Amino acid sequence: MLKVALLYPDLLGTYGDAGNALVLVERARRRGYEAEAIAVTMNDELPDASLYLLGGGEDGPQRLASDLLAATSLAARLRDGAHVFAVCAGLQILGEHFSVEGNDRYAGLGAFDLSTTRGATRAVGDLVITAGAHTLVGFENHGGVTTLGVGLAPLGTVKRGRGNDGVHDGFRTERAWGTYAHGPVLALNPWLADEVLVSVTGDEMAPLASVADRLYAERLASLSPRGA
Ligand code: GLN
Repeated sequence: MLKVALLYPDLLGTYGDAGNALVLVERARRRGYEAEAIAVTMNDELPDASLYLLGGGEDGPQRLASDLLAATSLAARLRDGAHVFAVCAGLQILGEHFSVEGNDRYAGLGAFDLSTTRGATRAVGDLVITAGAHTLVGFENHGGVTTLGVGLAPLGTVKRGRGNDGVHDGFRTERAWGTYAHGPVLALNPWLADEVLVSVTGDEMAPLASVADRLYAERLASLSPRGA
């Protein structure tokens, strides 16, 4: 059973990032896997899961989510090899520390070598990055500027928008992904949803034709005149 745990959608659900869980479960089921999404709200115990998902959130809920998650086994589970996919506030929480409005600095989970300060401006709008042979599309709305430690690879290179710092977006390890892209990003980018599923299941994913491919192609085409 593929268990996708959606962490604190009551705190980290501002931009519909919960859709990432639905997309993964549906794409897995259509390939014949048994899969379920488990919504873990702020008073729940952390369940065993194949993959943990974190979404974006406003500053106050982000701080609360970070404090609550610090009291759970999430960081230990990630060290032990659990997979994680994190968006925006979720990405910031996984790092060493982050700053929200007012520049106060808060401890993150320290699960990945990254840290976030407050930028001079908010980044709001389309976010387009290239990640290997792929292009990722989404939108961003955040005040943070994220710096990766030298050993941590970004998810991709920013073509439009800010992402981490105007140059790179997110981070990527064998079992973890972070990005500033909302959308939900796995609904907008079916290739990335399948990349996550390949990693979590250890299996190749058979091609899956769906409306998501057409919408992705249309979005790329609409971005290309100003993009790249
Ligand atoms: N509160 C964080 C920031 O503004 C994250 C925002 C978000 O998740 N969209 O940087």
